[in-house]
Amino acid sequence: MVEISKHLFDEKCRDVSCQKLFHPWNQSCFMASLFGYKQSFLGSAKFYLVIHLLQNLMRGKKILTRKELMQIGEYYVRSTIFGAFVSGTCITLGCLFRFLMGNRMTYYTYLLVPNTLNGIFILLEPPSRRGLVTNLFCSLVLEYWLRNLESSGYLSLTVAKQTFIFMVGSAVLFYLMRLEGEKEKRTPLFWLFTPEKVKHNANNSNNVCPHDGQCWKYILKGSSTYFGVGLAISLARAILPKIRSPIKAFSSLRGAHLKLALFFGSYIGIYRSVICYLCRKRGYDSALYALPAGYLAGLSLLFKPNLGFATASLTGAFKLYATILYEKKIIPENLPLPILLYCFCQGMLFHARFLHPHTCPSYMFRLINTVSNGSSEYLYSNLLKVVKSTI
Ligand SMILES: [Zn+2]
Ligand SMILES: [Zn+2]
Repeated sequence: MVEISKHLFDEKCRDVSCQKLFHPWNQSCFMASLFGYKQSFLGSAKFYLVIHLLQNLMRGKKILTRKELMQIGEYYVRSTIFGAFVSGTCITLGCLFRFLMGNRMTYYTYLLVPNTLNGIFILLEPPSRRGLVTNLFCSLVLEYWLRNLESSGYLSLTVAKQTFIFMVGSAVLFYLMRLEGEKEKRTPLFWLFTPEKVKHNANNSNNVCPHDGQCWKYILKGSSTYFGVGLAISLARAILPKIRSPIKAFSSLRGAHLKLALFFGSYIGIYRSVICYLCRKRGYDSALYALPAGYLAGLSLLFKPNLGFATASLTGAFKLYATILYEKKIIPENLPLPILLYCFCQGMLFHARFLHPHTCPSYMFRLINTVSNGSSEYLYSNLLKVVKSTI
């Protein structure tokens, strides 16, 4: 993958027309924009259909009331419009900024500034989903920065370091989640599992643990369920793309396909074991037990090293911490920190996808490609042609 530095971009792209870089399918900026919006609406509708279906399936509720169905529909439409506007206005703003810069394309106004500004469309998403998307994008930017530091030789992201980040992130995250357990309204967060609330009335029962029933059953149940989920995801990813030739698909299965299952299973298994051990040993439950439990559970990343999981644990913990800061009024209520963060991250990640693809998290390639209905790949190949040409 070609890294396009500021120097290279300014040299090769400065005087290139917006048609070449933003809308090769039509000479007119206006007409091309219309086609761009149509593609973005189609792509966004497809992308969010899968995302919303999966999220609703994971909620695990089988019977939905009419009101709930209406709300699911409304959220889906809002997400689709959000995705379509971000992808569509990318072309409109790109052409506009080129015009404003005196018909010149610059490194910053090519994608960074337009996609920072159109991040404001996140307001179309309902507040609960807004937080989840912001959290995901912050985690991706953190991953992107770490990869940049690695590629510049300042840091080497060994498996041990990734695991250490995940251990620290998990410890703080689970501790803050257990602290939040008391509240009526919890901060929306998408994480591998939600720890149990702290048990306070241990004196009234024989069980000091935060769960009912025997410890070994509780630990085994969590481990086996998550092992099953991990295995199902790995098998689906291995088999579904080759579903037309089942024999080939099944013969491609290897021991490596157990890695995700082992990671998920041991993550919850270690966490629950440590919590139960500490509750039994000390005779009462405390939110603080989540610190050693989460820290040791983080070791399970050794089964499937992944920088994305490591950074996600940190940003998840930061999100819960930010909620505390808002409640204590340390962050002023009228400061829309999540929205500003989202805009910043979106600009950064779109910029990274096109100009620094070698360090950009792979999720961004799939996201931008699907939401733009394939247009992004076309535009990227055009950019490469421009950069490689000797004008
Ligand atoms: Zn144009
Ligand atoms: Zn127990």
